[in-house]
Amino acid sequence: MIPRAQHNVSRKHISRGALRVLYGLHEHGFRACLVGGAVRDLLLGGHPKDFDVATNATPEEVKHIFRNCRLIGRRFRLAHVLFGPEVVEVATFRGAGVEGEGDRHLVEGRIVRDNVWGSIEEDALRRDFRVNALYYDIADYSIIDFVGGMSDLEQRKLHLIGDPEQRYREDPVRMLRAARLAAKLQFTIDPSASEPFARLGHLLGDASPARLFDETMKLFMTGHGLASFRKLEDSGLLKHLFAGTARALARDEHGALRSLIEAGLAGTDARVVQGKPVTPAFLFAVLLWGEVYSLARGMQSEGVERALAWQRAAHQVMAEQTARVAIPRRFSYAMEEIWAQQPRFAERSKKRVFRLLAHPRFRAAYDFLLLRAAESEEMRERGEWWTRVQTLSPEELSVELSKPVSANAAGSATGGEAAAALPKRRRRRGGRGRGKSKAAGPSSEEMS
Ligand code: ATP
Ligand code: MG
Repeated sequence: MIPRAQHNVSRKHISRGALRVLYGLHEHGFRACLVGGAVRDLLLGGHPKDFDVATNATPEEVKHIFRNCRLIGRRFRLAHVLFGPEVVEVATFRGAGVEGEGDRHLVEGRIVRDNVWGSIEEDALRRDFRVNALYYDIADYSIIDFVGGMSDLEQRKLHLIGDPEQRYREDPVRMLRAARLAAKLQFTIDPSASEPFARLGHLLGDASPARLFDETMKLFMTGHGLASFRKLEDSGLLKHLFAGTARALARDEHGALRSLIEAGLAGTDARVVQGKPVTPAFLFAVLLWGEVYSLARGMQSEGVERALAWQRAAHQVMAEQTARVAIPRRFSYAMEEIWAQQPRFAERSKKRVFRLLAHPRFRAAYDFLLLRAAESEEMRERGEWWTRVQTLSPEELSVELSKPVSANAAGSATGGEAAAALPKRRRRRGGRGRGKSKAAGPSSEEMS
């Protein structure tokens, strides 16, 4: 036990909602502690966004105390206490329990239900990492450390509590949590906790896709996405979460895909830090680009026409990905649109340029185009051209687009081909992108 005078966790940095829950439980005679990421981050001097409370009150007793309370979960029953937009998660201390007794069940070593109540000591042992098992006790403002979390915190290390193999079998998502927390906190994963990844990583295939989507959001959309990506790659876990990405990176001889992914993730991280909105659609478009690109390319070289090849490739990539990570339809739809706009950036006809500029997904598609600068000189120039046209008034742009194609900044191949294909396309109204010259064969242009 570390008394208040010997640690830096102050009530000033704890949310109002969390304090009300802690004091409310305490006043009703229950044990109430802040636990998990919030205590860890406060000790590290950070500002946690969410606060978790652990108590010896049952969910029903919690509900009895707070009017603004919802009981959630069946496999892991919890109380959520709501204060406006703030949600304080209140978990009853879990006990070790004897298999088959009470509401705790394992299937092939995997925990499928965990609702056996226990003591605070037992609760500590059921948590994942030592640094996540520190308790801040509202009764005397002390920190309670049952498992050596304080010393790990000082050494910036992640140790699993208990036998690593058993703990990963109980819940394979803990492997991703290790990678994520290491990236977020810039901690190292103790070899005892990273050693089983190669053997047990495939168990992520048994995890719930909905849960893996939530975990993916925390990995990539909370300001340390690039660090998470590198950690996942180094630890060999990436292929179990984004198989297509891992395959495409293995083929990426010149590093163009890697630099696209790294630039995309760094951009997202910067936006998160600045408080700007970010969309998972863009993230998935970035991560899966390499795979969809080569699939579409392969289909085109077998004679499938461009739009159809892209559609099929996108479909195939998404089918594989959503089987592992449940990407909600609204995001996968937006992602496919970002991809579908890419070939259209090659077009230089007035009508098509204006149409693309007005497209609801233009911004995201254009940001994506800029990430592709490393692919080729042509791509870099294309990005610059679209950057420049956005600075022009509609009148100026009209004039620009009326110039002979060779005068366009985007240069010969790009403009030339788009212009050559144009008369055909015009005749087929509604057949967007279908008119392409078979004779020319699938040039890199058509596939880009
Ligand atoms: P962050 O909030 O930064 O994502 P966190 O550690 O608080 O990190 P949460 O998902 O909020 O993560 O979980 C809160 C706490 O619950 C953890 O600190 C840990 O003690 C416990 N916990 C969460 N997930 C698991 C798990 N899969 N197995 C065991 N304990 C877990
Ligand atoms: Mg948390």
